[in-house]
Amino acid sequence: MYPSTLPAAVAEGAGRPLVVGSGIAGLYVALRARELGLRPTIVTKATLDDSNTRYAQGGIAAAIGPEDSPARHLEDTVRAGGGLVDRTAARILVEEAPRRIADLVRFGVPFDTVEGQIALGREAAHSRTRILHAGGDATGLQIEETLKRRAIAAGVETRERTSLRRLYLDSSGRLNAVLVREGERGGEIADEGPVVLATGGAGSLYRESSNPSVATGEGVAVAARAGALIVDMEFMQFHPTVFFREGAPRFLLTEALRGEGAWLRNELGERFLPRYHPDAELAPRDIVSRAIHSEMERTRTRCVYLDATAIPRDRLFARFPTICHFLSGFALDPSRDLVPVTPAAHFMIGGVSTDHEGRSSLSGLLACGEVAATGVHGANRLASNSLLEGVVFGERVVRQLLHPVAGGPRPPPREIALTLPPGAGRPPPEGVLVELRETLWEEVGIVRSAAGLRRAMRRFEQLLTRLEPPRPELPPSPAAHSVLTALLIARAALAREESRGAHFRSDYPRPRPEWRFHLGERVVPAPRG
Ligand SMILES: Cc1cc2nc3c(=O)[nH]c(=O)nc-3n(C[C@H](O)[C@H](O)[C@H](O)COP(=O)(O)OP(=O)(O)OC[C@H]3O[C@@H](n4cnc5c(N)ncnc54)[C@H](O)[C@@H]3O)c2cc1C
Repeated sequence: MYPSTLPAAVAEGAGRPLVVGSGIAGLYVALRARELGLRPTIVTKATLDDSNTRYAQGGIAAAIGPEDSPARHLEDTVRAGGGLVDRTAARILVEEAPRRIADLVRFGVPFDTVEGQIALGREAAHSRTRILHAGGDATGLQIEETLKRRAIAAGVETRERTSLRRLYLDSSGRLNAVLVREGERGGEIADEGPVVLATGGAGSLYRESSNPSVATGEGVAVAARAGALIVDMEFMQFHPTVFFREGAPRFLLTEALRGEGAWLRNELGERFLPRYHPDAELAPRDIVSRAIHSEMERTRTRCVYLDATAIPRDRLFARFPTICHFLSGFALDPSRDLVPVTPAAHFMIGGVSTDHEGRSSLSGLLACGEVAATGVHGANRLASNSLLEGVVFGERVVRQLLHPVAGGPRPPPREIALTLPPGAGRPPPEGVLVELRETLWEEVGIVRSAAGLRRAMRRFEQLLTRLEPPRPELPPSPAAHSVLTALLIARAALAREESRGAHFRSDYPRPRPEWRFHLGERVVPAPRG
């Protein structure tokens, strides 16, 4: 079904790739492609500035310190990944990291320095100080602004408020057209060039989320509907510390704060993490998130508290200016006050399955960044490896754009097939996204069980019956795409009857060796007749 050679039309049109998304992955691919003589267009569903990238605080990991090496970075990445890291992908990530950092420096990203040397920070589960940051805790913003400026100056064409809605394949399964919608107007690009999916994650589909509202997982759904292999959707990473106050934005409080010495306290004022893990505040994210979840259940509260009062005030304000500024808006001074926090959905580990060159299972469709599942994070991402993933695999995608070679990911040992119901094509009911977020958080969140996952799936299936277009060739609404992505997460979470990495099942609370493999999902056409 999936051809092993690139279609001639795509190969001929390779000079004009369509890059979907304007985060680090999309901007980097477009800029490098332009530098190397191609003529990419970026389409992005809101403005160029809207992305997860812009909010990244802690930084970007790379083994460039004198005490560090790619081998150590590899070991930390593999250790964090719960037995599912693709070692080859991870080796590529850590070994190519210093060269990609050099590219970012060449483009002008103003990484923070100490005495003329790039300053390095420490984060949970990294055995060395290897996190580069910029503007203190404004790393993503600095990277995004720099790449955006350079891309525009280099002549990359950009189209804001333009959404990818559908990919069309020819009769042999080759990608041959793309539907994008500009604002409320419809419009088709019958593009012959390859498509680079860089649409980011799905964190904002959860009620508690660190992500901005653009992170609705549409890219995964669009690719899935075209028949692309999707993997690892059960692994949604939750960040342990997001600012909690009713009605306030869920602003992330980077783990670098705990790296600098901040502790977590429960409602009773107790430091609780040493009871859960020997590394206490520096334990892996999933362990910290579950520990907080369990303390919140025990004390019947909706938050715990981050205590950064042991960090000297000057250091706190110099290293975390964005956070201190944000908290001042709520009359909180972290050098003095405890800050209320909750865990929140943060990073989509799974997504469109790709090989090490960014090739998906569909000819002509490449993917990189958070939407792609390279296997580099296994079942649990090591902090600060995702900005890096965007540039390392982004560079490899550019190589494919220049010199396309056939290939694609290896199918996983187990795939779940999903047939979409013909729908009524009706508009989304009022409050559908609120309900979707609530259901994902309550039933497909930090602690899951078969009963809750089944309830969630039933609801998502009902919604799809209402939202799906009545004929398969019609473009689904963004809400239908988001519901499909939610369903893919819930189905994979139900199928994986064990706990591993970011996926925790109360009915199967331990990893099971027989489950040490990646799980695939594929949308298949309904049988005729
Ligand atoms: C608060 C926060 C802090 C973080 N801190 C760190 C950190 O310190 N270090 C680290 O490594 N990682 C961090 N991460 C994760 C990291 O920021 C992301 O994984 C990474 O930026 C993803 O980059 P991307 O280019 O793949 O996607 P994004 O940056 O999310 O960009 C996706 C783009 O695609 C567009 N898009 C989506 N759907 C469509 C569509 N259908 N049509 C057109 N356009 C579309 C979006 O509008 C957006 O422009 C953090 C994330 C958050 C939310």
